[in-house]
Amino acid sequence: MKCAKCQNMDTKVIDSRIVEDWQVIRRRRECEFCSHRFTTFEKRWITELTIIKNDWTKQMYDRQKIKRGLMLAFAKRKIDHEMVENIINNLEIKRQNEWNEIHAKKIWEDILKELKEIDPVAFVRFASVYKSFESLEDFKNFIW
Ligand SMILES: [Zn+2]
Repeated sequence: MKCAKCQNMDTKVIDSRIVEDWQVIRRRRECEFCSHRFTTFEKRWITELTIIKNDWTKQMYDRQKIKRGLMLAFAKRKIDHEMVENIINNLEIKRQNEWNEIHAKKIWEDILKELKEIDPVAFVRFASVYKSFESLEDFKNFIW
């Protein structure tokens, strides 16, 4: 962790304590170069989230899988890679405080909501691609 004052990379942990019901670790750090002291917080990240699929089987959250799904849905159309990354980033930020498990449907709804807000045209395109599937269930199975 870089020192906020002198940008030195070598900082040592001088104190660690768990706060917020064991969800967050607070660390006091000290820069080994200028002795500046600062605090960092570590939090469980969404990558440890378990996805409950429609058939109730479980699977670990997989960012690459969502990305592939979005890319495939945009196949043969102009893909804005930055937009795809942003959609997934927003999804991860939103769900980072979630419980350990989340239904795939919620993730799916998040993606649609993000698309609608970020780029209405892309949302319409995405929706039209998904309509070519037999049903919403088919498409969700395709994504997950
Ligand atoms: Zn420093």
